[in-house]
Amino acid sequence: MKIPEPGDYIDIHTHEAKSNPGVFAVDILMVHEERVPADLPGIAYCAGIHPWFLNETNHPLLIKKVGELITHQSMIAVGEAGFDKLRGPSLEIQRIAFEEQTAISEKNRMPLVIHCVRAWDELLMEHKKLRPAMPWLVHGFRGSKDLALQLIKKGMYISFWFDFILRPESSELVRNLPSDRIFLETDGADVDIRDIYNKVSQDIGITVDELKGIIFSNYRDFFKTTIFN
Ligand SMILES: [Zn+2]
Repeated sequence: MKIPEPGDYIDIHTHEAKSNPGVFAVDILMVHEERVPADLPGIAYCAGIHPWFLNETNHPLLIKKVGELITHQSMIAVGEAGFDKLRGPSLEIQRIAFEEQTAISEKNRMPLVIHCVRAWDELLMEHKKLRPAMPWLVHGFRGSKDLALQLIKKGMYISFWFDFILRPESSELVRNLPSDRIFLETDGADVDIRDIYNKVSQDIGITVDELKGIIFSNYRDFFKTTIFN
């Protein structure tokens, strides 16, 4: 199950997804959890090392697991991988694990899903250094318009933090970003993806069906190397 139906609400980043009619979810397997992909309708999977759960000891085993899980037929991307300056191990080990996961993403021709907290310089430096052919998606975004546009200019896609995007003050940001680079997500929180679509469609001034069409088309672009093979 890799491709949503055209009318689905796409939840681009969630955890422990359950089948939900009308919703297509991308479930993030953080490899330290030891979950494996299930064959459920409306659910595709990513696998990666979340920086919070990385350390010097588990690092080799976790990387091996990403390489193994990613070959499963329901996988569509590597991640979430990334940098966190508030929680997790040293930036040095985060950087090593990030570069290894980028290599897995490139080798398997799968996009990369990114967790980034207060480490935008590091992320942009890695992008410049690694020059990935696969697209990157920054999930849980809650930054400024300038930062969003900077990431988009480098070819990245953005999915907003659910709590941030439901607030009135995010409306202006959403209106000012190119809609062909955005995704919406629940991140496994107790929030309905339909409410997020409602809010964002109002922000942009389009119908929910039009927004579904845009996000569906973004999905096909972002995952084109994964879903058409
Ligand atoms: Zn997450």
